[in-house]
Amino acid sequence: MFHDLKPELKETLAQIRTFVADEIIPLEPLLLQQYFSALLPQLEEKRAQVKSLGLWAPHLPQDLGGLGLSLYEFGHISEVLAHSPLGHFVFNCQAPDIGNSEILLQHGTVNQKQRFLNPLLSGDIRSCFAMTEPEHAGSNPVYLSTTAVKDGNDYIINGHKWFATSADGAAFAIVMAITNPAEEKLHKRASQILVPLDTPGYRLVRNIPIMGEAGEGYFSHGEVRFENCRVPQSNLLGKEGAGFELAQKRLGPGRIHHCMRWIGISERALEMLCQRAATRELSPGNLLGTRQTIQNWIAESRAQIDASRLLVLQAADKIDRQGASAARVDISVIKFYVAGVLQQVLDRALQTFGGLGMTDDTVLSFYFRHERAARIYDGPDEVHKTVVARSLLKKYMKL
Ligand SMILES: Cc1cc2nc3c(=O)[nH]c(=O)nc-3n(C[C@H](O)[C@H](O)[C@H](O)COP(=O)(O)OP(=O)(O)OC[C@H]3O[C@@H](n4cnc5c(N)ncnc54)[C@H](O)[C@@H]3O)c2cc1C
Repeated sequence: MFHDLKPELKETLAQIRTFVADEIIPLEPLLLQQYFSALLPQLEEKRAQVKSLGLWAPHLPQDLGGLGLSLYEFGHISEVLAHSPLGHFVFNCQAPDIGNSEILLQHGTVNQKQRFLNPLLSGDIRSCFAMTEPEHAGSNPVYLSTTAVKDGNDYIINGHKWFATSADGAAFAIVMAITNPAEEKLHKRASQILVPLDTPGYRLVRNIPIMGEAGEGYFSHGEVRFENCRVPQSNLLGKEGAGFELAQKRLGPGRIHHCMRWIGISERALEMLCQRAATRELSPGNLLGTRQTIQNWIAESRAQIDASRLLVLQAADKIDRQGASAARVDISVIKFYVAGVLQQVLDRALQTFGGLGMTDDTVLSFYFRHERAARIYDGPDEVHKTVVARSLLKKYMKL
């Protein structure tokens, strides 16, 4: 089923690979030593270079300055960008902005696009997505307490959210709030509403520390409160009550983006593992790479990463051809499988580096801290496995 990539895309991929290696990876030691905002001036310089190369926001349609790629094609780019934790940001296709821009593109009104989408696409602002609430199980997000109540031409929003990735410094949030509490079907009660974060009543309570990192700027996860936040009803995205329908549309391609990013990280970790194994002497002339355990890890990682890539590209191709709902089970398969492969490959690489792997002298510890969450966000493993198992079991039993 796989079609070959167009020759010009292959050239672009090679160009991006070189850019990541030569221009972005050298910035990583700074990322490991200091806060994201201290790095911003250098990152802005790199972003300007990417714009001048015509590679900015490659996920976008051509008329908006992107490369006009299918999801299948963009997946390849996402993998290459993930060779550095800074890659997607420098090319302006980082989560959650990429998902928010896709939703605005497909469902935003002309005014919403002008006010929120355009500055997002130009990289002048960042955004966040606020759905999960501390008081409710995020795995079943139809249970929400955040409300948006109509008052004149406005909505008044009240609620408590957390894990709003990149909330610190974001210009707006897409907030999932209950607008139709009387609706019988739980998944039709909520709507997505655009909330500028300078709206009175909005508060960033804290950046939630994750695995020993305080979190800041783009690399933050915010606990936030909306207390009588008043926004015009024209900030509603799509139709009232369609919040989860939009979320599903966002999450299908979003999971392809995540999975291809995890594959890129796994490739980087495997490359580092091999380099270390090939140079670390256990005793003079006796290299770590001669040990069978290490060789098994290399072989297993190679097979798992390649299998992951095939699975993800198959799902991306299905979304391109038939839409996200047709690929629902395929998306669940890749979400838990690739997240698991990533953990295993990272762990093997870190183990191969020994004590050095635990330090912040290499990017492995950064990836290890940041990517454990891959098995939790956008649906924990267990939820996705249930989706897959139920789709198979329904042929055999009533569920
Ligand atoms: C780094 C990070 C970034 C995030 N970014 C965002 C963001 O930008 N915006 C946002 O709104 N949210 C975000 N989240 C929140 C994330 O989507 C939720 O954490 C996730 O949906 C799980 O919800 P929960 O934490 O409430 O866990 P719970 O729902 O309390 O679940 C806890 C555990 O129970 C188990 N479990 C749950 N359901 C089942 C089941 N059906 N069967 C068996 N076991 C089950 C799983 O092991 C799960 O890990 C982020 C989370 C993290 C960690």
